[in-house]
Amino acid sequence: MSAEKKQAILMNDFQRQWQDIGQQVLDATQAVGKSGWYVLGASVKQFEQNLAKHWGLSQAIGCANGLDAIEIGLRAQNIRTGDKALTTPLSAFATTLAILRCGATPVFVDVDEHGLMDLQKAEQALLADSSIRFMVPVHLYGHAMSLPNLAKLRDQFSLQMVEDCAQAIGARSFGTPVGGAAQMAATSFYPTKNLGALGDGGAIVCNDSALAQKAQCLRDYGQSEKYLHTELGLNSRLDELHAAILNAAMLPRLADWTTKRRQIAQCYLEGIKHPSIQLPTAPEGSDSVWHLFPLIVKSNRDSLKSWLSQHSIHSGVHYPILITDQPALLTAGQPIIIGSLDNAQRFARQELSIPIHPYLSDDEVTQVIRVINDWPEQA
Ligand SMILES: *Cc1c(COP(=O)(O)O)cnc(C)c1O
Repeated sequence: MSAEKKQAILMNDFQRQWQDIGQQVLDATQAVGKSGWYVLGASVKQFEQNLAKHWGLSQAIGCANGLDAIEIGLRAQNIRTGDKALTTPLSAFATTLAILRCGATPVFVDVDEHGLMDLQKAEQALLADSSIRFMVPVHLYGHAMSLPNLAKLRDQFSLQMVEDCAQAIGARSFGTPVGGAAQMAATSFYPTKNLGALGDGGAIVCNDSALAQKAQCLRDYGQSEKYLHTELGLNSRLDELHAAILNAAMLPRLADWTTKRRQIAQCYLEGIKHPSIQLPTAPEGSDSVWHLFPLIVKSNRDSLKSWLSQHSIHSGVHYPILITDQPALLTAGQPIIIGSLDNAQRFARQELSIPIHPYLSDDEVTQVIRVINDWPEQA
Protein backbone atom coordinates (compact mmCIF):
# COMPACT_ATOMS: atom_id res chain seq x y z
CA MET A 1 0.00 0.00 0.00
CA SER A 2 1.33 3.40 -0.88
CA ALA A 3 1.92 5.73 2.02
CA GLU A 4 2.06 8.65 -0.36
CA LYS A 5 -0.70 11.18 0.22
CA LYS A 6 -2.79 11.72 -2.87
CA GLN A 7 -2.30 15.20 -4.24
CA ALA A 8 -5.41 17.33 -4.49
CA ILE A 9 -6.38 18.67 -7.91
CA LEU A 10 -6.42 22.43 -7.41
CA MET A 11 -8.18 25.26 -9.23
CA ASN A 12 -4.73 26.85 -9.64
CA ASP A 13 -1.41 25.23 -8.81
CA PHE A 14 1.08 27.99 -8.02
CA GLN A 15 3.66 25.60 -6.58
CA ARG A 16 3.92 23.75 -9.88
CA GLN A 17 4.04 27.08 -11.65
CA TRP A 18 6.93 28.15 -9.43
CA GLN A 19 8.83 24.97 -10.29
CA ASP A 20 8.58 26.05 -13.90
CA ILE A 21 9.12 29.81 -13.70
CA GLY A 22 10.96 30.31 -10.39
CA GLN A 23 14.47 30.82 -11.75
CA GLN A 24 13.31 33.38 -14.30
CA VAL A 25 11.39 35.25 -11.61
CA LEU A 26 14.49 35.34 -9.40
CA ASP A 27 16.64 36.58 -12.29
CA ALA A 28 14.12 39.31 -13.11
CA THR A 29 13.95 40.29 -9.45
CA GLN A 30 17.69 40.60 -9.25
CA ALA A 31 17.83 42.74 -12.36
CA VAL A 32 15.27 45.17 -10.93
CA GLY A 33 17.02 45.22 -7.56
CA LYS A 34 20.35 45.99 -9.18
CA SER A 35 18.85 48.71 -11.36
CA GLY A 36 17.89 50.71 -8.26
CA TRP A 37 14.71 51.96 -10.01
CA TYR A 38 11.45 50.51 -8.63
CA VAL A 39 8.48 52.54 -9.88
CA LEU A 40 7.59 53.51 -13.48
CA GLY A 41 10.89 52.77 -15.17
CA ALA A 42 12.31 50.70 -17.99
CA SER A 43 10.63 47.41 -17.02
CA VAL A 44 7.14 48.90 -17.05
CA LYS A 45 7.82 50.56 -20.42
CA GLN A 46 9.17 47.35 -21.87
CA PHE A 47 6.27 45.30 -20.58
CA GLU A 48 3.75 47.83 -21.89
CA GLN A 49 5.31 47.61 -25.33
CA ASN A 50 5.34 43.83 -25.31
CA LEU A 51 1.78 43.61 -24.03
CA ALA A 52 0.49 46.03 -26.68
CA LYS A 53 2.32 44.05 -29.37
CA HIS A 54 1.00 40.75 -28.06
CA TRP A 55 -2.51 42.19 -28.00
CA GLY A 56 -2.26 43.74 -31.45
CA LEU A 57 -3.06 47.26 -30.22
CA SER A 58 -0.82 50.32 -30.20
CA GLN A 59 -1.06 51.33 -26.52
CA ALA A 60 -0.82 49.59 -23.15
CA ILE A 61 -0.70 51.31 -19.77
CA GLY A 62 0.25 49.30 -16.70
CA CYS A 63 -1.60 50.00 -13.47
CA ALA A 64 -2.08 48.54 -10.01
CA ASN A 65 -4.97 46.12 -10.62
CA GLY A 66 -7.94 45.29 -12.82
CA LEU A 67 -10.42 47.31 -10.78
CA ASP A 68 -8.36 50.47 -11.30
CA ALA A 69 -7.86 49.65 -14.97
CA ILE A 70 -11.64 49.76 -15.53
CA GLU A 71 -12.01 52.98 -13.51
CA ILE A 72 -9.13 54.63 -15.37
CA GLY A 73 -10.61 53.54 -18.72
CA LEU A 74 -13.94 55.10 -17.83
CA ARG A 75 -12.42 58.29 -16.41
CA ALA A 76 -10.12 58.71 -19.41
CA GLN A 77 -13.38 58.87 -21.39
CA ASN A 78 -14.72 61.58 -19.09
CA ILE A 79 -17.36 59.67 -17.18
CA ARG A 80 -19.01 62.00 -14.66
CA THR A 81 -21.04 61.74 -11.47
CA GLY A 82 -24.55 60.63 -12.34
CA ASP A 83 -23.65 59.15 -15.73
CA LYS A 84 -25.16 55.72 -16.40
CA ALA A 85 -23.11 52.71 -17.43
CA LEU A 86 -24.68 49.52 -18.76
CA THR A 87 -23.13 46.33 -17.41
CA THR A 88 -23.74 42.73 -16.31
CA PRO A 89 -24.90 41.38 -12.93
CA LEU A 90 -22.78 38.22 -13.43
CA SER A 91 -19.12 39.15 -13.00
CA ALA A 92 -16.49 39.90 -10.38
CA PHE A 93 -17.87 42.68 -8.16
CA ALA A 94 -14.95 44.84 -9.35
CA THR A 95 -16.66 45.49 -12.69
CA THR A 96 -19.51 47.36 -11.04
CA LEU A 97 -17.34 48.77 -8.26
CA ALA A 98 -15.25 50.60 -10.88
CA ILE A 99 -18.40 52.26 -12.23
CA LEU A 100 -19.52 53.26 -8.73
CA ARG A 101 -16.10 54.66 -7.87
CA CYS A 102 -16.46 57.04 -10.80
CA GLY A 103 -19.65 58.33 -9.17
CA ALA A 104 -21.64 56.78 -12.00
CA THR A 105 -24.73 54.59 -11.82
CA PRO A 106 -24.60 51.00 -13.05
CA VAL A 107 -27.55 49.76 -15.12
CA PHE A 108 -27.96 45.99 -15.38
CA VAL A 109 -29.37 43.68 -18.04
CA ASP A 110 -29.54 39.89 -18.03
CA VAL A 111 -26.97 37.49 -19.46
CA ASP A 112 -27.46 35.04 -22.32
CA GLU A 113 -27.17 31.24 -22.26
CA HIS A 114 -23.35 31.50 -22.17
CA GLY A 115 -23.37 33.75 -19.08
CA LEU A 116 -22.35 36.87 -21.02
CA MET A 117 -24.28 40.12 -21.23
CA ASP A 118 -27.26 39.61 -23.57
CA LEU A 119 -26.67 42.16 -26.32
CA GLN A 120 -30.27 42.07 -27.55
CA LYS A 121 -31.43 43.03 -24.09
CA ALA A 122 -28.66 45.62 -23.96
CA GLU A 123 -30.02 47.15 -27.16
CA GLN A 124 -33.54 47.25 -25.74
CA ALA A 125 -32.24 48.95 -22.59
CA LEU A 126 -30.36 51.53 -24.66
CA LEU A 127 -33.44 52.20 -26.78
CA ALA A 128 -35.55 52.62 -23.64
CA ASP A 129 -33.13 54.99 -21.88
CA SER A 130 -31.19 57.39 -24.09
CA SER A 131 -29.31 58.77 -21.07
CA ILE A 132 -27.10 55.66 -20.91
CA ARG A 133 -23.79 56.79 -22.45
CA PHE A 134 -21.29 54.27 -21.07
CA MET A 135 -21.02 50.50 -21.23
CA VAL A 136 -18.77 47.95 -19.51
CA PRO A 137 -19.25 44.53 -21.15
CA VAL A 138 -17.37 41.58 -19.62
CA HIS A 139 -15.76 38.76 -21.59
CA LEU A 140 -16.57 36.31 -18.82
CA TYR A 141 -15.08 32.83 -18.30
CA GLY A 142 -12.56 33.42 -21.12
CA HIS A 143 -15.24 33.67 -23.85
CA ALA A 144 -15.26 36.53 -26.32
CA MET A 145 -18.57 38.37 -26.65
CA SER A 146 -19.46 39.22 -30.24
CA LEU A 147 -17.21 42.17 -31.13
CA PRO A 148 -19.20 43.01 -34.29
CA ASN A 149 -22.36 43.28 -32.20
CA LEU A 150 -20.60 45.33 -29.53
CA ALA A 151 -19.19 47.69 -32.16
CA LYS A 152 -22.68 48.05 -33.64
CA LEU A 153 -24.12 49.09 -30.29
CA ARG A 154 -21.22 51.44 -29.71
CA ASP A 155 -21.88 53.22 -33.00
CA GLN A 156 -25.66 53.12 -32.88
CA PHE A 157 -25.82 54.71 -29.41
CA SER A 158 -22.54 56.70 -29.43
CA LEU A 159 -21.36 54.78 -26.40
CA GLN A 160 -18.11 55.21 -24.52
CA MET A 161 -17.06 51.66 -23.76
CA VAL A 162 -14.50 49.82 -21.62
CA GLU A 163 -14.30 46.08 -22.30
CA ASP A 164 -13.50 44.10 -19.15
CA CYS A 165 -10.95 41.56 -20.43
CA ALA A 166 -9.72 40.40 -17.00
CA GLN A 167 -10.76 36.80 -17.79
CA ALA A 168 -10.22 36.81 -21.52
CA ILE A 169 -6.74 37.98 -22.48
CA GLY A 170 -6.02 36.55 -25.93
CA ALA A 171 -9.60 35.52 -26.71
CA ARG A 172 -10.85 36.41 -30.18
CA SER A 173 -14.23 37.12 -31.70
CA PHE A 174 -14.41 36.35 -35.44
CA GLY A 175 -10.61 36.64 -35.46
CA THR A 176 -10.33 39.98 -33.65
CA PRO A 177 -8.83 40.09 -30.12
CA VAL A 178 -11.19 41.15 -27.31
CA GLY A 179 -10.84 44.85 -26.63
CA GLY A 180 -11.29 45.56 -30.33
CA ALA A 181 -14.82 46.97 -30.13
CA ALA A 182 -14.43 49.53 -27.35
CA GLN A 183 -12.40 52.72 -27.13
CA MET A 184 -10.47 51.06 -24.27
CA ALA A 185 -10.08 47.66 -22.64
CA ALA A 186 -9.00 46.68 -19.14
CA THR A 187 -7.29 43.59 -17.83
CA SER A 188 -5.96 42.18 -14.56
CA PHE A 189 -2.77 40.36 -13.58
CA TYR A 190 -4.21 38.97 -10.35
CA PRO A 191 -2.39 35.64 -9.84
CA THR A 192 -5.29 33.42 -10.89
CA LYS A 193 -5.85 35.18 -14.24
CA ASN A 194 -4.56 33.65 -17.47
CA LEU A 195 -1.67 36.15 -17.35
CA GLY A 196 -1.07 36.48 -13.63
CA ALA A 197 1.67 38.19 -11.63
CA LEU A 198 3.00 37.22 -8.20
CA GLY A 199 0.70 39.81 -6.71
CA ASP A 200 -1.62 42.52 -8.02
CA GLY A 201 -1.35 44.27 -11.36
CA GLY A 202 -3.48 45.44 -14.26
CA ALA A 203 -3.41 47.25 -17.58
CA ILE A 204 -5.49 49.39 -19.89
CA VAL A 205 -5.05 48.86 -23.63
CA CYS A 206 -6.29 50.95 -26.55
CA ASN A 207 -5.48 52.20 -30.03
CA ASP A 208 -5.69 55.91 -29.28
CA SER A 209 -2.61 57.81 -28.11
CA ALA A 210 -4.60 60.70 -26.60
CA LEU A 211 -6.65 58.31 -24.46
CA ALA A 212 -3.47 56.45 -23.51
CA GLN A 213 -1.87 59.69 -22.38
CA LYS A 214 -4.89 60.48 -20.25
CA ALA A 215 -4.74 57.02 -18.68
CA GLN A 216 -1.01 57.47 -17.95
CA CYS A 217 -1.80 60.73 -16.25
CA LEU A 218 -4.69 59.26 -14.21
CA ARG A 219 -2.66 56.30 -12.88
CA ASP A 220 0.00 58.67 -11.50
CA TYR A 221 -1.92 61.23 -9.34
CA GLY A 222 -3.24 62.96 -12.43
CA GLN A 223 0.18 64.42 -13.22
CA SER A 224 0.65 65.44 -16.84
CA GLU A 225 4.21 66.42 -16.00
CA LYS A 226 6.16 66.23 -12.77
CA TYR A 227 4.31 68.14 -10.02
CA LEU A 228 1.72 69.49 -12.47
CA HIS A 229 -1.66 67.94 -11.64
CA THR A 230 -4.22 68.39 -14.39
CA GLU A 231 -6.62 65.63 -13.24
CA LEU A 232 -7.75 64.23 -9.90
CA GLY A 233 -5.96 60.95 -10.44
CA LEU A 234 -5.17 57.76 -8.54
CA ASN A 235 -2.02 56.15 -7.28
CA SER A 236 -2.32 53.09 -9.48
CA ARG A 237 1.08 52.25 -10.85
CA LEU A 238 2.37 48.85 -11.92
CA ASP A 239 5.57 48.04 -10.00
CA GLU A 240 8.83 47.58 -11.89
CA LEU A 241 9.17 44.24 -10.12
CA HIS A 242 5.84 42.93 -11.37
CA ALA A 243 6.41 44.31 -14.85
CA ALA A 244 9.82 42.60 -15.03
CA ILE A 245 8.37 39.29 -13.82
CA LEU A 246 5.44 39.48 -16.25
CA ASN A 247 7.87 40.28 -19.04
CA ALA A 248 10.44 37.58 -18.35
CA ALA A 249 8.42 34.68 -16.98
CA MET A 250 4.72 35.09 -17.77
CA LEU A 251 4.00 36.83 -21.07
CA PRO A 252 6.37 34.56 -23.05
CA ARG A 253 4.42 31.53 -21.73
CA LEU A 254 0.93 32.90 -22.29
CA ALA A 255 0.44 31.36 -25.74
CA ASP A 256 1.44 27.87 -24.53
CA TRP A 257 -0.66 28.21 -21.38
CA THR A 258 -3.65 29.18 -23.51
CA THR A 259 -3.09 26.20 -25.82
CA LYS A 260 -3.03 23.93 -22.77
CA ARG A 261 -6.28 25.43 -21.43
CA ARG A 262 -7.92 24.86 -24.82
CA GLN A 263 -6.74 21.24 -24.91
CA ILE A 264 -8.15 20.58 -21.45
CA ALA A 265 -11.43 22.25 -22.41
CA GLN A 266 -11.62 19.99 -25.46
CA CYS A 267 -11.07 16.89 -23.27
CA TYR A 268 -13.81 18.01 -20.89
CA LEU A 269 -16.22 18.82 -23.72
CA GLU A 270 -15.68 15.37 -25.23
CA GLY A 271 -15.39 13.39 -22.01
CA ILE A 272 -17.93 14.74 -19.53
CA LYS A 273 -21.27 13.01 -19.97
CA HIS A 274 -23.84 13.27 -17.22
CA PRO A 275 -27.62 13.71 -17.52
CA SER A 276 -27.71 16.51 -14.91
CA ILE A 277 -24.72 18.46 -16.20
CA GLN A 278 -24.76 20.92 -19.05
CA LEU A 279 -21.41 21.76 -20.65
CA PRO A 280 -20.40 25.37 -21.32
CA THR A 281 -21.02 26.90 -24.72
CA ALA A 282 -19.37 29.93 -26.29
CA PRO A 283 -20.91 32.74 -28.34
CA GLU A 284 -20.73 32.45 -32.12
CA GLY A 285 -17.28 33.43 -33.38
CA SER A 286 -15.59 33.12 -29.99
CA ASP A 287 -12.13 31.58 -29.83
CA SER A 288 -12.22 31.24 -26.04
CA VAL A 289 -9.22 31.12 -23.71
CA TRP A 290 -11.00 29.11 -20.98
CA HIS A 291 -10.11 31.14 -17.91
CA LEU A 292 -12.72 28.94 -16.23
CA PHE A 293 -14.68 25.85 -17.24
CA PRO A 294 -18.19 26.63 -16.02
CA LEU A 295 -20.53 23.64 -15.76
CA ILE A 296 -24.25 24.12 -15.30
CA VAL A 297 -25.47 21.61 -12.74
CA LYS A 298 -29.19 21.18 -13.27
CA SER A 299 -30.00 19.29 -10.09
CA ASN A 300 -27.89 19.77 -6.98
CA ARG A 301 -24.71 21.80 -7.36
CA ASP A 302 -23.65 21.46 -3.72
CA SER A 303 -23.85 17.69 -3.98
CA LEU A 304 -21.49 17.68 -6.99
CA LYS A 305 -19.17 20.10 -5.23
CA SER A 306 -18.89 17.85 -2.19
CA TRP A 307 -18.58 14.72 -4.34
CA LEU A 308 -15.60 16.32 -6.09
CA SER A 309 -14.18 17.41 -2.77
CA GLN A 310 -14.47 13.83 -1.43
CA HIS A 311 -12.30 12.85 -4.39
CA SER A 312 -9.76 15.64 -3.68
CA ILE A 313 -10.89 17.75 -6.61
CA HIS A 314 -11.38 21.45 -5.93
CA SER A 315 -14.09 23.50 -7.62
CA GLY A 316 -15.49 27.02 -7.46
CA VAL A 317 -18.68 29.00 -8.05
CA HIS A 318 -18.59 32.01 -10.39
CA TYR A 319 -20.59 33.67 -8.96
CA PRO A 320 -22.86 32.61 -6.10
CA ILE A 321 -24.37 36.07 -5.50
CA LEU A 322 -25.29 38.41 -8.34
CA ILE A 323 -23.82 41.90 -8.17
CA THR A 324 -27.37 43.27 -8.00
CA ASP A 325 -27.90 41.31 -4.76
CA GLN A 326 -24.69 42.40 -3.02
CA PRO A 327 -25.27 44.22 0.28
CA ALA A 328 -22.66 46.89 -0.56
CA LEU A 329 -24.50 47.75 -3.76
CA LEU A 330 -27.86 47.93 -2.01
CA THR A 331 -26.53 50.61 0.36
CA ALA A 332 -26.30 52.82 -2.73
CA GLY A 333 -30.08 52.42 -3.31
CA GLN A 334 -32.10 50.07 -5.46
CA PRO A 335 -30.03 49.03 -8.49
CA ILE A 336 -31.42 49.91 -11.92
CA ILE A 337 -32.32 46.63 -13.59
CA ILE A 338 -33.87 46.51 -17.05
CA GLY A 339 -35.96 43.38 -17.58
CA SER A 340 -35.60 40.17 -15.59
CA LEU A 341 -32.30 38.60 -14.52
CA ASP A 342 -33.55 35.01 -14.87
CA ASN A 343 -30.53 33.71 -16.76
CA ALA A 344 -28.07 35.36 -14.40
CA GLN A 345 -29.95 33.92 -11.40
CA ARG A 346 -29.75 30.48 -12.97
CA PHE A 347 -25.95 30.81 -13.25
CA ALA A 348 -25.75 31.96 -9.63
CA ARG A 349 -27.72 28.86 -8.58
CA GLN A 350 -26.28 26.23 -10.92
CA GLU A 351 -22.77 27.17 -12.10
CA LEU A 352 -19.77 25.15 -10.92
CA SER A 353 -16.21 25.71 -12.21
CA ILE A 354 -13.81 22.77 -12.37
CA PRO A 355 -9.97 22.91 -12.56
CA ILE A 356 -8.57 24.05 -15.92
CA HIS A 357 -5.15 25.55 -15.13
CA PRO A 358 -2.20 24.88 -17.48
CA TYR A 359 -0.24 22.74 -15.01
CA LEU A 360 -2.85 19.95 -14.83
CA SER A 361 -1.51 16.56 -15.93
CA ASP A 362 -3.32 14.36 -18.47
CA ASP A 363 -4.03 11.88 -15.66
CA GLU A 364 -5.64 14.57 -13.58
CA VAL A 365 -7.87 15.68 -16.44
CA THR A 366 -8.94 12.05 -16.96
CA GLN A 367 -9.58 11.73 -13.22
CA VAL A 368 -11.77 14.86 -13.15
CA ILE A 369 -13.83 13.50 -16.05
CA ARG A 370 -14.22 10.06 -14.46
CA VAL A 371 -15.25 11.42 -11.05
CA ILE A 372 -17.82 13.75 -12.59
CA ASN A 373 -19.29 11.04 -14.81
CA ASP A 374 -19.59 8.77 -11.73
CA TRP A 375 -21.42 11.40 -9.65
CA PRO A 376 -24.49 9.62 -8.23
CA GLU A 377 -26.34 12.96 -7.66
CA GLN A 378 -27.44 11.86 -4.19
CA ALA A 379 -23.84 12.04 -2.85
C1 LIG B 1 -10.42 39.74 -11.54
C2 LIG B 1 -11.44 40.54 -12.23
C3 LIG B 1 -11.51 41.93 -12.08
C4 LIG B 1 -10.70 42.69 -11.08
O1 LIG B 1 -9.32 42.56 -11.21
P1 LIG B 1 -8.39 42.87 -9.94
O2 LIG B 1 -7.03 42.88 -10.51
O3 LIG B 1 -8.61 41.76 -8.96
O4 LIG B 1 -8.80 44.20 -9.40
C5 LIG B 1 -12.45 42.62 -12.83
N1 LIG B 1 -13.29 41.97 -13.67
C6 LIG B 1 -13.25 40.65 -13.84
C7 LIG B 1 -14.19 40.01 -14.80
C8 LIG B 1 -12.34 39.87 -13.11
O5 LIG B 1 -12.33 38.54 -13.27
